[in-house]
Amino acid sequence: MERPGQIICVGRNYLEHAKELGNEVPAQPLLFLKPPSCVIASGVAIELPSDAGRVDFEGEVGIVIGATLRKATEAQCAAGVRGIVAANDVSSRDWQKGDGQWARAKGSDTFLPLGDVSTAPFDLGALTVVTRHNGVERQRASTAEMAFPIPMLLAYISKYITLSPGDLVLTGTPAGVQPIVPGDVVEVEIVGHSIVTSPVVAGPA
Ligand code: ZN
Repeated sequence: MERPGQIICVGRNYLEHAKELGNEVPAQPLLFLKPPSCVIASGVAIELPSDAGRVDFEGEVGIVIGATLRKATEAQCAAGVRGIVAANDVSSRDWQKGDGQWARAKGSDTFLPLGDVSTAPFDLGALTVVTRHNGVERQRASTAEMAFPIPMLLAYISKYITLSPGDLVLTGTPAGVQPIVPGDVVEVEIVGHSIVTSPVVAGPA
């Protein structure tokens, strides 16, 4: 896809994933940002910084915004979705824990592989995300399992941050995240909509 405008992400939106990292699902959506500079296309390699420690894949449903949404209702938000995109929210767990802010943990170059945007008809409450790691299925979940459904997330975000056409919202990852190392291949698919495949290499020293 073209480089997104803002990239707003949601953490801990699936109970089983929150548990696997020893966290609770928060009372309200947990928001963070990724910089547009970390986006790469399908087929481009994820580069692991030499000092990043444990880096995980996170298969996620990406929502491409098609309208201006400011303090919008859930219905306005649902109608303002332009498309669906497969996304991999690559994350350094060591930096996430150590830095406090997640800018480099989640925002380093190549840390957001994105597929092509699908504008085929979709049901925001019944999208299936699947992640394959070296050909082995590691994540499979429906957006029906989210703690905060997509229209609720978008309405919550729009209370504080105006969403504009071309902005991207990452909606959280389900259980099954795994560390990646050079030589791996990670594939995230939104079934029937979008797919992104990424080889993994060691980053430049
Ligand atoms: Zn994530």
